[in-house]
Amino acid sequence: MQNEDKNTNDLNEAINDTSVTFDKRLDYDKLSFHYISLPVMLMSHLFGAVLLSAMMLNIVDLYSITIWLLLILIMFLYRFYHYNLFRKESEKNKLKDANLWLDRYYTNVLLGGIIWGSSALLIFPEGNLLHQMILLLFLFAMGFSSLGVLAAKRDLLLVYVLAMFGPLLWRLFFIEDSLYGNIGYAVMALVLIMIMVANYYGKIINNSLNNRQHFVNIKHSHDKLKERFFTLFDRAPVGIYYYDETLNLQDVNTQFMEMNKADEKESLIGHSLHTLHNDQIIEAHENAFSGKTGNYRGPFKTLSGTNEDIYVDLSTVPMFNGDGEVAGGITIVNDITSEVTAKEEMIKNAYYDMLTNIPNRTLAMDKLKNLIESKEKDDTYAALLFLDIDNFKRINETFGHTIGDGVLKQTAHKIEESIGTYDTIARIIGDKFLIMIPFIGDNKEEAKESTLAYISNIEQNFIQPLKVANKDYHMSFSIGVVLFSDNDATAYDLLKRAETAMYDAKKTTRGSTKFYQDSMSEHSKEELMIENDIHNAIKNDEFMMYYQPQLNVETNTIIGAEALIRWNHPQKGFIPPDKFIPIAEESGIIIKLEEWIFDKILSDVKLLTEEKSGFPLKHIAINVSTVHFLEPNFVEKLMLLVNKHDVKPEWFELEITESGIMRNINEAIQKIHELKNFGFTFSIDDFGTGYSSLSYLKELPVDVIKVDQSFVIDMNENDEAVIEAVIAIGQKFNLEILAEGVENTKILNRLKNISCNTYQGYLAHRPMEMKKLKELL
Ligand code: C2E
Ligand code: CA
Ligand code: CA
Repeated sequence: MQNEDKNTNDLNEAINDTSVTFDKRLDYDKLSFHYISLPVMLMSHLFGAVLLSAMMLNIVDLYSITIWLLLILIMFLYRFYHYNLFRKESEKNKLKDANLWLDRYYTNVLLGGIIWGSSALLIFPEGNLLHQMILLLFLFAMGFSSLGVLAAKRDLLLVYVLAMFGPLLWRLFFIEDSLYGNIGYAVMALVLIMIMVANYYGKIINNSLNNRQHFVNIKHSHDKLKERFFTLFDRAPVGIYYYDETLNLQDVNTQFMEMNKADEKESLIGHSLHTLHNDQIIEAHENAFSGKTGNYRGPFKTLSGTNEDIYVDLSTVPMFNGDGEVAGGITIVNDITSEVTAKEEMIKNAYYDMLTNIPNRTLAMDKLKNLIESKEKDDTYAALLFLDIDNFKRINETFGHTIGDGVLKQTAHKIEESIGTYDTIARIIGDKFLIMIPFIGDNKEEAKESTLAYISNIEQNFIQPLKVANKDYHMSFSIGVVLFSDNDATAYDLLKRAETAMYDAKKTTRGSTKFYQDSMSEHSKEELMIENDIHNAIKNDEFMMYYQPQLNVETNTIIGAEALIRWNHPQKGFIPPDKFIPIAEESGIIIKLEEWIFDKILSDVKLLTEEKSGFPLKHIAINVSTVHFLEPNFVEKLMLLVNKHDVKPEWFELEITESGIMRNINEAIQKIHELKNFGFTFSIDDFGTGYSSLSYLKELPVDVIKVDQSFVIDMNENDEAVIEAVIAIGQKFNLEILAEGVENTKILNRLKNISCNTYQGYLAHRPMEMKKLKELL
């Protein structure tokens, strides 16, 4: 039984083997067909032979019968042995050697035919018609029984018939008398009929065997198709699944498993799509049931344990059963998560500041536009605050951009904490932030008060210093505010106004707030344009250096000169430095500008010394912006220039402002010492304005105090008292005093009276070109 199972398995395997040709399979099939019936056939032949022998027992001599039976037996055993060999052979070998086995088989059949045929010679019952007829019957019976087998092999059939009936016919025609000749004809006719019948069956058998192999062929191509389909289904780069009428998953492919982070098909098969609780998805799937296609694009909760959200684009088509009825649907699903998140990210990037993650200028302006539109319907006040971190450039320049970025992030976060739910904070650019407050008061007065309270609330958050590179950093903002209750101005206008007010706030002390006023407007537009123009002006050589002589009060001789920049703008004409220097400082371009200035002054001075064969003055004073002075490599840069032009540091007096120094007094003092060691001298410019901390004077290693012109130009008694006090302190610390802005002799005389050492002013000379100065010396 087990063996049989094995055989049929092998048989299936052989048939399923698509590499075997059609003809080979046909042979093999014939072979199996023949051998299946072989044992029955052999047994019946043996039985027939024994029966025939028994019948002939008294008529034919025993000797002949024994020989014939022996032959039959030998053949039987031989063929049985063969049959056994065949059975034991593996199906694979049978398939391989099908031809050989068939030949053997046919030979054996032929052998059987010969032995049976020999009965006409060996055991022919001479003279006994009845027994002769019996023998004939047996021969025909045996012949017919072999027909089935030989039918499929037509050429063999003839040989077989010849072997089987040849001896008989020979005997009938040639040995016996003429009566037997008639029987011979009858036998021949029967044999002919037999051949025809066999031929007919042969055709049928051959046809059916052929058909069978055709079916196998069809099965093979079907299998191939099926396999291709399953490969396609499984390895398709899109997710595919089948579902039934209850929206249960029937089969899923690998890609769909991956989308759902499922390791096994089984965890998804049987899963109901209803568990997604998404009406749109369910509708798209149910569409298939009415023979339509369905589509869905959107979020999709993965069906595995994690249930995370992915984005898919799926379409469904109906699936039909064998009777052409809709039995469910097939879904093709694309994972478009990365596409969607990329798009989201893009939208986010377009509206959010990447560094601080708060809205950017675009979003802020959008919101501001909406807010302005809403102002048509109500007349309460809204506020727009423009914040700029004081001295932020210093942080970037001193600690680098990474730390600067960290400060911006902290700042954004801290401001965010202190604003209201309906308010918006945005980063416009660099260290500039915007706060939009949709409601700040019912009338202007209330709005102003509330804004100030609002700002002081923000500032509360910054009382604690920020940690910057492990140092405490006290943050302050210059803030410009614009209040509005109507939709008269555009978002852009309002932004510009807030910015203008902020720049106005910057001009006073740090950490101050200014409300926008119309008078500020003109002023600031110009400022913004100037910032752009400075860049070009450096390239186009639009700047010049002028020198204003400084004189001894007593002797009225020129002891030095202050270098002052002049800008002759090609379109706007002369622009005073008071106007563009603060802007250059704010934007940072002052550093580049002063690099040009220093270079120019040093080369002017070099020429001067060459013409005058030596330096004819005590010093040339150079104005140094604090922004530049506090640059880390200021000293090195200056010394490189000194070497480049081959000038001496002793020839130069660096003018720095008191207010600038106070921002970072320790670093300033250190730098002053360093440069003084090289030979430079120092003066404090604009003394008396700003902080006026006389107490710091003793710590500042400067050489000259320049009393600001506001005390000098129209000097009253109070001013005179201030100057006197400054002189007294100066003398105490061994400092020279210079008065700026002396426009008339009356003032010069007063200065003489209070023992002021030096002065500069229009009374003596206006700033002039180097050429003119040389003439004066
Ligand atoms: P400052 O350093 O106080 O320069 C003195 C200013 O007073 C100069 O104005 C000068 O022309 C003006 N002045 C001199 N004598 C009189 C006078 O008798 N009456 C009046 N009313 N004014 C007088 P200027 O050249 O317009 O410079 C203005 C400011 O621009 C300077 O003030 C300085 O802060 C800045 N500045 C000018 N040149 C440079 C420069 O090369 N580098 C830097 N960083 N700043 C400069
Ligand atoms: Ca100056
Ligand atoms: Ca000055």
